Amino acid sequence: MTVRTRIGPSPTGDPHIGTAYIALMNYLYSKKNNGQFILRIEDTDQARSSQHSEAAILESLRWLGLEWNEGPDCGGNHGPYRQSERLDIYREHISLLLEKGHAFHCFCTPERLENMRSEQRNNKQNTKYDGCCLALDEKDVKRNLEKKLPYVIRMKVPVDGVCQIKDMLRDPSEISWALVDMQVLFKSDGYPTYHLANVVDDHLMEITHVIRGEEWINSTPKHILLYQYFGWQQPEFCHLPLLRNPDKSKLSKRKNPTGILYFRDMGYLPEALVNFLALFALSISEGEEKRSLELLLEDFDLKNISLGGPVFNIEKLKWLNSRYIRDDYSADKFITALQEWALARKDISELATEIQSRTEVFADVIPLVGFLFSAQIEVTESNLLSKKIDRSLLRQFFYITITRTEKIDSWTISGIEEFLRKNAALLELNFRDLIPSIYVAITGNKQSLPLFRSMHFIGKNLTRERLKNALATIGNPTKKEKKAWDKLS
Ligand code: GLU
Repeated sequence: MTVRTRIGPSPTGDPHIGTAYIALMNYLYSKKNNGQFILRIEDTDQARSSQHSEAAILESLRWLGLEWNEGPDCGGNHGPYRQSERLDIYREHISLLLEKGHAFHCFCTPERLENMRSEQRNNKQNTKYDGCCLALDEKDVKRNLEKKLPYVIRMKVPVDGVCQIKDMLRDPSEISWALVDMQVLFKSDGYPTYHLANVVDDHLMEITHVIRGEEWINSTPKHILLYQYFGWQQPEFCHLPLLRNPDKSKLSKRKNPTGILYFRDMGYLPEALVNFLALFALSISEGEEKRSLELLLEDFDLKNISLGGPVFNIEKLKWLNSRYIRDDYSADKFITALQEWALARKDISELATEIQSRTEVFADVIPLVGFLFSAQIEVTESNLLSKKIDRSLLRQFFYITITRTEKIDSWTISGIEEFLRKNAALLELNFRDLIPSIYVAITGNKQSLPLFRSMHFIGKNLTRERLKNALATIGNPTKKEKKAWDKLS
């Protein structure tokens, strides 16, 4: 048997460091076992998926050097590798389940489902589908379909018995089927849900080991049942604990930078990031952390991953990065890599005329553009605050802007302006009055290169980090404020 692993990212936003971690574990597992690693784009959520995000995922995994054997760009024998291009396959399979009586049409309206759930909540029960449409016979279904009533297709779940779950990192466990929901497999928009698509694809793509994030562990019984319904052999499951902040909270953008491309843009080396993430699956002593890929593979074992959650300690990553820069780079190699980094980050010529018009002598340029290439800049409270804007409103503006950057997909110059204006309008603030404070937050100065262009140049991730720094300088929100402000954003 050839070991085949896969990463199945959904292209809905910036590629997250958590995806790099899961991808790397899949990659290393396949390498260690002389197997293959597959990239599959899980874009069944039509509303949230974007090409921009898919391109960024490919770019960031490629930057890390996690080459895949099959994928949407390079093809393979099990394609297509984009779920939106496999709809016929899912349709065929859902028909099969309907024929065999393992799935059923559900015509319940969203209102009915909401009432059902709120009743269940009131009765302190788990919220799950109550099986109302199981009572429909063939004729009822036919009639409803003729009437063109909207429907979804759900899977049937046994009433009695238990599901046995095996996981590579955990003791075997059981869950009673009565607790498992009759999952929607096919949505009213004609797209499959993650559950159906994922199982069908893993089978057809001959995936032998499903190594994925722990957030999917509760879905596993449904997947196991689908394998049984189709009469397929199930793969091995391995649910990896999620990355955590040093305070053990879930790694989130609000606390730490989490975009893979942020690390690239800040000048982390891919080999350092890979080395750092791989350490979670190694059991080694202090002082042995810096390792080539071969050495990482030698001691790699998923069982070493701490179930309590691997801690993403950015200081350790920085230290490792500095070791690579100092130990592995000759002066020449260092300068070449530095130049490549500066140029690859983005072409400074997009700001050429603005820089030129602010230059008397060339020596003016370095201080002027410094903020574009720095990780963090110094800002002071007095520079950030302005007489025209109430401090609390300015904090609120920064807060909602940070939160909302997650929702913008493409980061264009005009889009950035519109985005900031909208946030100002939401708080009924005069946009012009706000500009100087945003300026300081981003550039560190009251006067500099044009704001929106600069934000575009430094990118969304760094913009978010700068705003976070500004917010911390004038006062992070209290828990109560966060709650109130979250409602707005
Ligand atoms: N599309 C899922 C995700 O984005 C993949 C989960 C899985 O690997 O099964 O996390």
